Amino acid sequence: MNSDNFSPTKANRAQIKYCDEHECPVFAPMNGVCYRCGYNIYLRTNGKSGPRGITVEEAGSRLITSCPHCGYSFVE
Ligand SMILES: [Zn+2]
Repeated sequence: MNSDNFSPTKANRAQIKYCDEHECPVFAPMNGVCYRCGYNIYLRTNGKSGPRGITVEEAGSRLITSCPHCGYSFVE
């Protein structure tokens, strides 16, 4: 199983589809870029505690409410 599948375009589409199917609003930024840290949430960065970022699979299986890089909440 490939758990390392990063693609901002596909992940963004997967998240919109997930929200559509679950009838919930899309909180993640439309261009994938975090409002606070400026990193793309769908790309991997190497943090102190290991790689961070949202894979295509993750974007298609859960509601994204915060930045994986800096923890900024998109809900508020
Ligand atoms: Zn951020």
